[in-house]
Amino acid sequence: MTVKIIGAGLAGSEAAYQLAKRGIKVDLYEMRPKKMTDAHQTNMFAELVCSNSLRAIDITNAVGLLKHEMQELDSLIIKAANFASIPAGGSLAVDREKFSLFVEKELTNSEFITIHREEVTKLDEDVYTIIAAGPLVSSSLFMEIEKLIGKQDLHFFDAIAPVIMKDSINMDICYLKNRYDKGEAAYINCPMTKEEYESFYYELINAQKVQPKDFENNVFEGCMPVEVMAERGIQTLTFGPLKPVGLEKPNGELPYAVVQLRRDDAANSMYNIVGFQTSLSWGEQKRIVRMIPGLENAEIVRYGVIHRNTYIESPNILNDSFQVINSKKIFFAGQISGVEGYVESAASGLNAAIQMASLVNENKLVPFPNETMMGSLAKYVSTPNKSFVPMHANFGIIPELNYKHKKKERKEIYARRANDALLKFKEENHELFWAFWWLFD
Ligand code: FAD
Repeated sequence: MTVKIIGAGLAGSEAAYQLAKRGIKVDLYEMRPKKMTDAHQTNMFAELVCSNSLRAIDITNAVGLLKHEMQELDSLIIKAANFASIPAGGSLAVDREKFSLFVEKELTNSEFITIHREEVTKLDEDVYTIIAAGPLVSSSLFMEIEKLIGKQDLHFFDAIAPVIMKDSINMDICYLKNRYDKGEAAYINCPMTKEEYESFYYELINAQKVQPKDFENNVFEGCMPVEVMAERGIQTLTFGPLKPVGLEKPNGELPYAVVQLRRDDAANSMYNIVGFQTSLSWGEQKRIVRMIPGLENAEIVRYGVIHRNTYIESPNILNDSFQVINSKKIFFAGQISGVEGYVESAASGLNAAIQMASLVNENKLVPFPNETMMGSLAKYVSTPNKSFVPMHANFGIIPELNYKHKKKERKEIYARRANDALLKFKEENHELFWAFWWLFD
């Protein structure tokens, strides 16, 4: 039995390793360098296209917990990141070349993996396949995916604003109010004085941008990034997305400018920043967003992007094992499957490969428990959602605690609970985790 994996990025490389170490043969297809994407610069596997950070380490941070779970599952991407790590405070940052070389060497040395440096242009529903071709999937494969799942469930370009955790908003400064008090108050407002606005403004227009490519300029003519709008003049934003009129503070005072936050999820745990579509680099987004009064500790769960970002409407397509519901031999993994970020993409590759291994060997799927971050992401991508967008790991998607607890202890409890659930899951599925452990040693 051989599994075909399309794409040797974060998800595909992880999936290949996980299958091979379980004794399953893999045909791994990567189109670079013959055909490049608009973001990749090299021919290396698991290339980090932008930042070199795999984000927070601490397990009381959602992505830290996800990395911890992946490490427990012997993730190749985490092993490579630990090997290539460079000092970065509380984050796991890597030397990107060393990181990719480690991944590529492990995969190249495996007798179970055959590497094909070519573009896949056709899908065959009779072949066990993991589609891990990323947000910049080639156009021929894009059309094949369209045939498989239908046009309406395949998204192409994206222009989105950052989303932040409600918990991290300082409500001593911000206040709930709709403009002119219309309807039940739903917006959170961050008021700015003239001085605050001006320093925010100058930092915004001078911030580092991710240069859009030509195709992006064409497609996004009508959808202007906030930093581009700001360049038109210092008052443009105060007459646009930051206009204060009708948004007086609870003491009746009218701020000079107001940044509005709109609820983003049914659970009311996340808010997006209204009118803040942006192409700033992720680091700059964090810095600029945290200059907004009340958002000084903002935890960004999804960064704003303006680029090609292909992803499927996975709640209509996938089950919680990343398997295509109507085509049982095909799985999706990585950003294209509806997760967001390097670590999340690799995690979904790991999950999809374990499910594929279980399907091939035992003819069954073994979804991860919802209490784990691995399981929560799989649940998120397969749960109906009217405004589905790819999602970062975050505690808003993990099941809530149904007993009294101190708020400041909540994340620690989540982490402990996830760890216990993962250990139990591994014990219950013993054959998937220990049977072939020596193959890569
Ligand atoms: P990729 O890593 O892109 O891997 C997909 C692979 O498939 C590529 O190597 C590609 O060449 C190959 N491929 C495509 N089509 C075919 C085909 N038909 N046949 C064979 N091979 C094919 N996330 C972060 O956490 N931090 C960031 O700073 C960040 N910045 C980003 C910047 C940009 C411009 C983009 C587009 C995304 C960014 N992301 C970032 C989001 C996401 O985490 C990355 O895109 C990540 O690489 C996704 O992993 P993946 O495995 O799904 O796809």
